[in-house]
Amino acid sequence: MSDGAPITTLDIEALKAEFPILSRDAYGKRLVYLDSAASAQKPRAVIDALSYTMEHSYANVHRGLHLLSNETTAAYEDARKTVAQFLNARSADEIIFTSGGTDAFNLVSYAMSVSEIGEGDEIILSLAEHHSNIVPWHFLRERKGAVLKWLDVSDDGEIDLDEYASLFTDKTKLVAISHMSNVLGAPAPAKKMARIAHEHGARILFDGCQAGVHGSVDVQDIDCDFYVITGHKLYGPSGVGVLYGKMDALRELPPFKGGGEMIDMVTTETVTYNDPPHRFEAGTPPILEAIGLGAALKWMRGIGIDAITAHEARLRDHVLEELSKLNFVRLYGRAADKAPIIAFSVDGAHPHDVSAILDRTGVAVRAGHHCAQPLMKRLGVSATARASFGVYNTHEDVEALIDGLKKTHEMLG
Ligand SMILES: *Cc1c(COP(=O)(O)O)cnc(C)c1O
Repeated sequence: MSDGAPITTLDIEALKAEFPILSRDAYGKRLVYLDSAASAQKPRAVIDALSYTMEHSYANVHRGLHLLSNETTAAYEDARKTVAQFLNARSADEIIFTSGGTDAFNLVSYAMSVSEIGEGDEIILSLAEHHSNIVPWHFLRERKGAVLKWLDVSDDGEIDLDEYASLFTDKTKLVAISHMSNVLGAPAPAKKMARIAHEHGARILFDGCQAGVHGSVDVQDIDCDFYVITGHKLYGPSGVGVLYGKMDALRELPPFKGGGEMIDMVTTETVTYNDPPHRFEAGTPPILEAIGLGAALKWMRGIGIDAITAHEARLRDHVLEELSKLNFVRLYGRAADKAPIIAFSVDGAHPHDVSAILDRTGVAVRAGHHCAQPLMKRLGVSATARASFGVYNTHEDVEALIDGLKKTHEMLG
């Protein structure tokens, strides 16, 4: 998506003040939140949308013939339209609300295992996938005899298109690949990858749980079959995610979960199903969470996606420059156009200890395998620390991280 807004310099202090949680402290120190790639904080606009709905017009959606139900249905469907615009989908009917990113991958995996993927069929994944875009495909390997083919990535997380193209055979049914790694932050050449997949008659699904946060996404331009984003990383609530599916791809898929709303007609002998997107939204959907996600995406659009990307690029350049001056820090992932997701280690220290010491200085970073064990193996480590920046982070936050790392080094060295 491009919202056409000029790239302005954001007033980050004012923007940050819209996030109530960021004014609390941590152990009496200024809180420096650098774990947005795991979950982002929520602006007042999202908090207000949730409380407004609960206080003013909450009821179950779609089934009601009364005022509150109609109002809530309108708000829920409006959120679907907002997501469609955010991803530049052709139609809001291509937007399915799920319970999160993980739920969306499981939906596609289950549905394709019924209708499209069987014994010997091949699925291409990269070594930089998040476990939630690995394990559902392992299910198809275990249960259906599907074959997983793994695409290597460079040390910086970049994809070689020739190597990618060489993995296709006439058995390839699907490519399931991250548009941006949650560890290395490098964007994938999505449009070229989609074209190559389609030349081989395969479907392509992108994991956009990170890419959707840090830059504009245009699913029509990429021309992918499926695209996944998740609410809690987009400054929205947890408990909601989105599966975008091209209408012809969605029409081919049988339902994943059965229940209310997803049916056309149920008798004691038969059942027929509703059209997408409702076919894939069995039961009461995440009503509040979807409305909150809509509010988050409107808030992002109000700031300007290009302005967010530009601010984050300045933070990335600043932190990479400062980290490269610390000879006891090792960086993972230096792709030129990467997002401000910075994986690193400190010589002689376990990442968990680095994170624990930084925490005491008020700086929250993540440490571990980041739900990407195949990537850890590829990088030759068992874990890393990871500082990930969001739109509300400042250059002062970068300096706090650097100071904290110097202290960590002194304490451990
Ligand atoms: C967070 C994340 C997921 C999982 O999304 P959930 O909504 O937490 O289930 C998948 N892929 C990537 C790249 C992620 O960062």
